[in-house]
Amino acid sequence: MMHNRAEAHINLQAITRNVELLKKKSGTDLLAVVKADAYGHGLVEVSKTALLAGADWLGVALLEEAITLRKAGITAPILAWLVPPGSDFQSAVTNNIDIAVSSIAAFKEIALVKGSARIHIEVDTGMTRGGFLDEWHEFLQSDFSTVEVIGFFSHFARADEPGEQQNRDQFKRFKEMLAELEAVGIHPPIKHLSNSAATLADHSSALSMVRTGIAMYGLTPETQMGSSKSFGLIPAMTLRAMLHLVKSVVAGSPVGYGATEKTTRDTHLGVIAMGYADGIPRIARNAGVTFNGERAPIIGRISMDQFVVDLGPNSLAKSGDWVTIFGDDGFTADDWASASGSVNYEIVTRIGPRVPRIYDHG
Ligand SMILES: *Cc1c(COP(=O)(O)O)cnc(C)c1O
Repeated sequence: MMHNRAEAHINLQAITRNVELLKKKSGTDLLAVVKADAYGHGLVEVSKTALLAGADWLGVALLEEAITLRKAGITAPILAWLVPPGSDFQSAVTNNIDIAVSSIAAFKEIALVKGSARIHIEVDTGMTRGGFLDEWHEFLQSDFSTVEVIGFFSHFARADEPGEQQNRDQFKRFKEMLAELEAVGIHPPIKHLSNSAATLADHSSALSMVRTGIAMYGLTPETQMGSSKSFGLIPAMTLRAMLHLVKSVVAGSPVGYGATEKTTRDTHLGVIAMGYADGIPRIARNAGVTFNGERAPIIGRISMDQFVVDLGPNSLAKSGDWVTIFGDDGFTADDWASASGSVNYEIVTRIGPRVPRIYDHG
């Protein structure tokens, strides 16, 4: 019996399969990227599943995320890469959490922490976001004697466009900067650059470890590269919701705020108790839900907690029935992404905390 109004079902077996596939593809160590509550799939459950499936490392953005994993009893190596100056670096060391370093200001604090901090040096090879760029040569003069340099890494900006010259330029710059680091006597054992797209498209940049996020959740980094199915990936999240209310309406009924759409025929409408507060994009057009394999498109504006779908004149759906918003049948997270000018990453990550995650162990 389901008592919720909406549920995100997480197929942990799919995560296992995807990790196995990505590990096989890379032929290297695999860092499972579980930032942002494992892209909305649930930080701790996904992390445990990924490790059991063969992931070697976990990667998060925030130090707090890493500490949550340690508190859950996870002992695998963890890298946190958005740890700014002023962070509690001591607790990183105490909890045996590796930290990415991309500024001299942060490094100076880390170098003073009791016990040797484990660091991964992040360099900007052309994305012009994270990593050392202007401070690089000054950083190379640092005293590294109080830290342990475990890793050296960067991030691709356009790995989802494998033919782009920028990928080759970034890889070349990566090797140059690594050589500069080695020239001052620092030899990090783990070098990593590839995200999901690079892991799927271009094995040559796998180095000693890949950092895979979206593909582990069974989603393609870019639909132009290929669908989940074409890569053999299994989407892990299925978002289901209850038809809070089903009603018959006449043709010409204006639906929702602003009366932006009217029914074009006598029909059945379904009200779904999820809205933009739950991560359903307000801007979405041309997406919808499925009931018994039948597609029902969104009609009218998405509200904060509700939206309306046109079930059609012959629908047998009734109040209290369940529909699929995206997942294992009907619409996909990719459909919702293209319906809202976004990417599947944002669709799954923004499913809000009011929606319980239900773990299917398969
Ligand atoms: C999010 C992130 C990843 C994972 O990217 P995907 O495209 O989801 O595989 C890898 N590395 C870093 C530094 C990231 O921030």
